[in-house]
Amino acid sequence: MVKYHGKGVYGAIAIGSISIFRRKNIQVKKIKTDNTSTELERLEKAKGKATEQLRKIYEKALKEVGEANAQIFEIHMMMIEDDDYNEAITKMITEQNVNAEYAVSVTAGNFADMFSSMDDSYMQARAADVHDISNRIIACMNGCETEAVPSAEKVIICADDLAPSETVSLDKDKVLAFATSCGSSGSHTVILAGNMNIPAIIGLGEEFLTQIKDGTTAIADGFTGTFIVDPDEATLSEYKQKQQEEEEKKKLLQELKGRENITLDGKKIDIFANIGSAGSIDTVLGSDAGGIGLFRSEFMYLENTDYPAEEEQFRIYKHVLESIPGKVIIRTLDIGADKQADYFHLEHEENPALGLRAIRLCLSRPEIFRVQLRALYRASVYGRLGIMFPMITSISELEEILALCSEVKNELKESDIEYSENIELGIMIETPAAAIISDRLAPMVDFFSVGTNDLTQYTLACDRQNPRVERFCDTHHEAILRLIEMSAENAHKNGIWIGICGELAADTSLTETFLRMGIDELSVSPSLVLKVRDTVRKINLNG
Ligand code: PEP
Ligand code: MG
Repeated sequence: MVKYHGKGVYGAIAIGSISIFRRKNIQVKKIKTDNTSTELERLEKAKGKATEQLRKIYEKALKEVGEANAQIFEIHMMMIEDDDYNEAITKMITEQNVNAEYAVSVTAGNFADMFSSMDDSYMQARAADVHDISNRIIACMNGCETEAVPSAEKVIICADDLAPSETVSLDKDKVLAFATSCGSSGSHTVILAGNMNIPAIIGLGEEFLTQIKDGTTAIADGFTGTFIVDPDEATLSEYKQKQQEEEEKKKLLQELKGRENITLDGKKIDIFANIGSAGSIDTVLGSDAGGIGLFRSEFMYLENTDYPAEEEQFRIYKHVLESIPGKVIIRTLDIGADKQADYFHLEHEENPALGLRAIRLCLSRPEIFRVQLRALYRASVYGRLGIMFPMITSISELEEILALCSEVKNELKESDIEYSENIELGIMIETPAAAIISDRLAPMVDFFSVGTNDLTQYTLACDRQNPRVERFCDTHHEAILRLIEMSAENAHKNGIWIGICGELAADTSLTETFLRMGIDELSVSPSLVLKVRDTVRKINLNG
């Protein structure tokens, strides 16, 4: 029995056989040929087939993980048609009289080297993509399909890392869990695995893959990030018991569907869901959440290779609003710090968490912000929209934002474009400054939502990305609870509602504390909605 420790990114336990994800390594030989026109034909046919495969993957991804996450496959389709790439392959076939596989393989290597040597990290990342599409074309020439899940039984997929195309291509019904040696919380695998509700553990270390074997039984504990290979009988039965308990808890919780979020003494609150893309709508509907309390709109930007246009954003917001009967709170772009998109060309910062992120970036580049606001206002007629602004620290920022909102409304009015007058405008309380001046901010907005992840980081001066300071990062610290309480008091004095949308909202050991503070809404991951409802229903505030 060997234990590995990584980071659990989706809380569930999986027990099953290991299946190591191997990329088909096709041996490409150089073959001299006089019949270059046949090679060119083979190339064209294979490109067509590869594009067809990618289109299917794109459609599958669109359904399972949403448009923003699926876009990478559209990019791959475009790359297959790239003029420079195709010219280089064709030239090699016709001038060097070689077979098409060889020309594709060499060209892929040359392009990947060129991308890797660029300074821009976005371009560097394209090296993997060019290999990805080239391998697909070569596989198509050889009649090999790529990336099939190996067996009929459900398995735990273990890999060094998984490319987005690989993750989405896996048959969701045959995957028990993902376990990878590298990967960061913001990686595609994590975003996709979370959206697909598949337990995942990342960062299991370099040794991990070299020490495991196909078919060995393993336990993936997504709660603690523990991965146990070849468990002994006692461990196996301990985990089977835990798994069964989890299943029973889940089943019991299902009985709470359709029930109210009400305490024993009759206080009702809202329990909403947090999402990162429109692909999670079905999960939200299945979770019985009353609405969406945090739509992290920046994921749409992170998955794109260029600024998402107003029309594209409008379509996404409209779709979410039409699909969710309750309130939908969309947070405006919160990019910067750990969330980087290369096309923003953000300058290197010594302390990015304290830098030009979130609303600061939006106010510094109002042309980007305006596009999002226009899309949001236009979509507002399709549901119950709330717009929420992140990282607020001052009155003047909020004045600037509200002025921009008014300008956007006037522009739309002048162009006879419809928008709703009932949009709720709110701010995140995620800096100590916002909590401390919450008495002044409350009269300016319709709601507050506490971002406890950042509020903890900024109050305790603990970088949320730095595992070395994790033990100093006490999310239950009195200072944080006092700031939340102060914000709740000021919200209610001014007649507005207050929710919590950071991770702490799902910490059921604090639910009663939050209710006693008067918190009106808790927004949590869809899979935790019923758990929080269960806790609320057992609380007696008169007790
Ligand atoms: C938070 O900071 O608590 C929050 C909800 O926002 P994010 O985690 O996206 O920064
Ligand atoms: Mg935050």
